[in-house]
Amino acid sequence: MSPAAALHDRLTVVAAAFNEADSLPALQPRIAAALDAVAAEHGLECRVLYVDDGSSDNTWQVLQQLAAADTRIAVLRLSRNFGKELALTAGLDHVECGAALIIDADGQDPPELIPQFVERWRQGFDDVYGTRLEREGEGWLKRGTAHAFYRVIGQLSKTPIPADTGDFRLLSPRALHALQQLRERHRFMKGLFGWVGFNRVAIAYHRQPRAAGTSKFNFWRLWNLALEGITSFSTAPLRLATYLGLLTALVAFAYGAWVIGKALLWGDPVQGWPTMMAVILFLGGVQLIALGLIGEYLGRLYEESKQRPLYLVDVWQPATGVSSGQV
Ligand code: UDP
Ligand code: MG
Repeated sequence: MSPAAALHDRLTVVAAAFNEADSLPALQPRIAAALDAVAAEHGLECRVLYVDDGSSDNTWQVLQQLAAADTRIAVLRLSRNFGKELALTAGLDHVECGAALIIDADGQDPPELIPQFVERWRQGFDDVYGTRLEREGEGWLKRGTAHAFYRVIGQLSKTPIPADTGDFRLLSPRALHALQQLRERHRFMKGLFGWVGFNRVAIAYHRQPRAAGTSKFNFWRLWNLALEGITSFSTAPLRLATYLGLLTALVAFAYGAWVIGKALLWGDPVQGWPTMMAVILFLGGVQLIALGLIGEYLGRLYEESKQRPLYLVDVWQPATGVSSGQV
């Protein structure tokens, strides 16, 4: 098999697991069945990569047993709990070639859909992502806040981030390679997938309730994730500070001018008040403008510090002809 063929003929299912000992034994047979179907239909070499994100239950022992029973399974254990985004990053970094499919380890993303994802990839799509039709087993508060979050970040961020899309997705080899180049420390995966671009297509699915255990994301973690998303993919909050500063400074200068003008024309009964007001308003205004300016540069520095590639090429078609006169 040529290296180029190998690159396109492997599929690795990546799942981050944090205290999922109860869900994994039920999940793995479902993934295995889906992969058998995919291997038979598309002639793909299929693998599974489980990342143990520093679990404190016996997830690792369970993974060891699963790996011993199935040679397609690779396991990776992080030194402690780094959180889902970093666990996924570690997993994707260990996919050397081929496409990667990310799935939750708790059975909420049905592995039975894997053949559909692969089908779309084989049709030429680079980023096949699952969109939730509904969220079973999740309260109205979580659904409502999630809805609001996707709307806010959709407005603030220049990167397209599809609503109600989790991490259940398939990345083609080139999309995966592109993602592996994004090394920023604050990782908001949903945004990073969107940044990569290429041909994208959604697959709608019904999100199942958890197989076992409880969600690892409480409101505090979700709130932090939302802040992470907004601050990683938009400098709008900094911009807001600039505009607020400019506006306040403008009002301050205008009011200062009025106080001085009034004192010059008609005098002021309180000795020194106009001067003091003028100085306070002027200094306050200058400080706010300066803060806004610093914010603008900080925003640029922040963008630079992520060291993302400047662009990714989808198709590059060099000229084929040789112009007349040239050999
Ligand atoms: N997860 C992880 N590290 C964490 C928290 C969660 O690897 O620190 C994994 C977890 O095992 C599961 C996936 O991320 O496979 C989604 O987590 P969860 O089901 O708790 O989130 P929810 O589905 O409620 O959004
Ligand atoms: Mg879950």
